[in-house]
Amino acid sequence: MTSIDVQHYPMLIGGEAVDTDDTMTIVDPSNESVVATTAKGDATHIDAAVAAGKAAFRSGVWAGKTPQERASIMRAIADAANDRIEELVELEMAANGATVRQATGFHVGYALAHFTYFADLADTYAFARPGPISSFPTLAQSVVHREPIGVVGAIAPWNFPLLLTLWKVGPALAAGNSVVVKPDEHTPLSILKFAEIAEANGLPKGVLNVVPGDGRDAGARLASHPDIGKIAFTGSTAVGREIMKLASGTVKEVTLELGGKGPSIVLDDADLDMAVDGVLYGCFVYSGQVCESGTRALVPRSLHDEFVERLVDRARTIVMGETRDWDTDMGPVIDGKQQARILQYVGEAVQSGATVVTGGGKPQGDTFERGFWIEPTIVTNVDNSMAIAREEVFGPVLVVIAYDDDDDAVSIANDSDYGLAASVWTTDNSRGLGVAARVEAGSVWINDAHQINAEAPFGGYKQSGVGRELGPDALDEYTQAKTVHLDLSGGRENKPYDILLSHADD
Ligand code: NAD
Repeated sequence: MTSIDVQHYPMLIGGEAVDTDDTMTIVDPSNESVVATTAKGDATHIDAAVAAGKAAFRSGVWAGKTPQERASIMRAIADAANDRIEELVELEMAANGATVRQATGFHVGYALAHFTYFADLADTYAFARPGPISSFPTLAQSVVHREPIGVVGAIAPWNFPLLLTLWKVGPALAAGNSVVVKPDEHTPLSILKFAEIAEANGLPKGVLNVVPGDGRDAGARLASHPDIGKIAFTGSTAVGREIMKLASGTVKEVTLELGGKGPSIVLDDADLDMAVDGVLYGCFVYSGQVCESGTRALVPRSLHDEFVERLVDRARTIVMGETRDWDTDMGPVIDGKQQARILQYVGEAVQSGATVVTGGGKPQGDTFERGFWIEPTIVTNVDNSMAIAREEVFGPVLVVIAYDDDDDAVSIANDSDYGLAASVWTTDNSRGLGVAARVEAGSVWINDAHQINAEAPFGGYKQSGVGRELGPDALDEYTQAKTVHLDLSGGRENKPYDILLSHADD
């Protein structure tokens, strides 16, 4: 594993490294050490980055290339990034505390694989499609062009900084747009490095700009900037609402990937060995800091006690420790504020009558003296009306809720403002498919969790979001349709212009 010295990272605007007097400090959540500093952009830097993106777009230096040329450059970028995968993994985990297994496989591995998927989409996407031959009011042939939007703004969260940024940058570039990225305050490093790799491998200057900065300053300016045609956001539902308002001033397109409170529905015929491990995997991977985590285990009342006992036994085998150790299963949470918030949710649930059956605090030992650690925590005697069952805790906290029958399970699952993802655990596929059909969520896994596939659309029902990322139609979200009609009427005499000009020859 490569280790990094404390380095300073400027922002990237129009292909130039731009620095500021004001800086942001990047801290490793596993030990609170300072790993880097970065420039701190504000609204004026966003304005400069948007201007650079617009100039690059208008010049045709990227949008004017054929889709195949864009695809080929994007694949070269992915190859070059893959050659530096250890560096990207280190930058990612140093800033967000992911374990090395998590950061290598999910965070950076998926990010680069998905970027390649978007490159391939540029090759196959129908940028011009034959439209209808219409005979009314006159004969015409139409062609529908999918054109890039212009300059796209991408605002990302800290939990999967590279992956979730490339879910936006990938299709935006494949379609020919320029992009301005505003990374999260905790995690600008991996996308700054990726942008540097992209420019060194053929991406023209100004096409991809990265401006680290505060959400309320740089982020808000990006979301409301008049020259931004579309804003793609992943983050909390509260900020998503704010983004929608900011984007409405200039009627921008928006894609919002927001929070979740995923139910893991264990049916009474489930394979319990698989369900117990699957429910734990669904909740505790990356310390529960995944939007699609299954944070509510819905368990038949008849199986409740046995299931909880098995969950607790298995949860206690989850090893916390040095994030760079390949034996470590689970790392810290992102920061001290979030650590306190998670523990507060647990404390308030206990005051409302819930029971902590394992975890519930900070782990003991020298490794955990610094950093933001919380044990895998399981809470029972939870009612779905409690805050811990309704709000996104975003930490390693699983609540277990007992239900009476399948109808009751579906009703509890759907009794949520969120609708991002759910899982169903059963040995009967048709029963599982029946429950999946009734669950209000953008993704439902039967006997699985966290199955994110580049070829499948991902996004939320209800307050979990607007629009979809990934999937074969991903470029639809980054293009706009222009229908061009070509007249085939054969001459003036076949035109319906007499509707207006009936007296012209009098
Ligand atoms: P957050 O909403 O606090 O911040 C996300 C981004 O928005 C950051 O870059 C932040 O700087 C920026 N921001 C904050 N205020 C802003 C404003 N007023 N205007 C413009 N930008 C602003 O989210 P977070 O804490 O970084 O991430 C965790 C959240 O993200 C969770 O709710 C999680 O469920 C969600 N998430 C969703 C998905 C998904 O695909 N649905 C994936 C990952 C994370």
